[in-house]
Amino acid sequence: MRMIFIGPPGAGKGTQAARLVDHFKIPHISTGDMFRAAVQAGTPMGVEADRYMKAGRLVPDEVVIGMVRERLAAPDTAPGFMLDGFPRTRPQAEALAEALAADGRALDAVLLLEVPDALIVERIVGRRTDPETGAIYHLTFSPPPAAVAARLIHRKDDTEEAVRARLDAYHNQTAPVVPFYEGVGLLRRVNGVGDPDGVTAAIRAALA
Ligand code: ADP
Ligand code: ADP
Repeated sequence: MRMIFIGPPGAGKGTQAARLVDHFKIPHISTGDMFRAAVQAGTPMGVEADRYMKAGRLVPDEVVIGMVRERLAAPDTAPGFMLDGFPRTRPQAEALAEALAADGRALDAVLLLEVPDALIVERIVGRRTDPETGAIYHLTFSPPPAAVAARLIHRKDDTEEAVRARLDAYHNQTAPVVPFYEGVGLLRRVNGVGDPDGVTAAIRAALA
């Protein structure tokens, strides 16, 4: 199963992707997670990406595309993959199509997780992640157990100001990817509003 997850920041892509990759036994490839790991490791790519991420702006296409191409060449992608947060621009979508076609692979589905802007800021500002397990929590909607509370991370781009910039980037730069996939019949729209179990059920139905 070769899948892509598209949706605004905070739509629940990471939360749902974690469940899907368990089910399909495929790697979860999150470009945001890859950039955060590069920032943490202090690599030259991490240093460059950090400038954009802090401001809620997209990292330049050539940087992202190179990183994803390399990742998709790894043998663990043979049974498929779940791309989360990529492609985020039309050139990224075109580069992905080319890279896959070059090794005779094709996408099976593109999931678009739809959540209105009005709900996004609250989801993002309350998000906390566990650096040890990768688990995603929300202070109100998915409260963390007391035992892990002290080690949780609040991402520095999960502020109201940065999320507004990320929403602008989503509407201006990522939204044009939707007609690209609609045109080739791969797009599946899923309502991302409601409790996470309900969203998981809607995704399963969309993939069936
Ligand atoms: P994305 O990967 O799309 O940015 P996340 O999966 O990290 O989104 O979710 C963003 C925040 O919203 C997290 O704090 C998460 O716990 C919370 N969240 C995820 N799904 C839902 C949902 N269906 N309802 C309410 N909150 C949710
Ligand atoms: P969220 O789902 O909460 O918006 P991500 O973790 O997917 O956040 O991405 C965090 C940041 O990493 C983005 O705001 C952007 O700066 C950078 N980034 C991640 N994926 C891409 C991409 N495909 N193209 C450009 N920048 C990206």
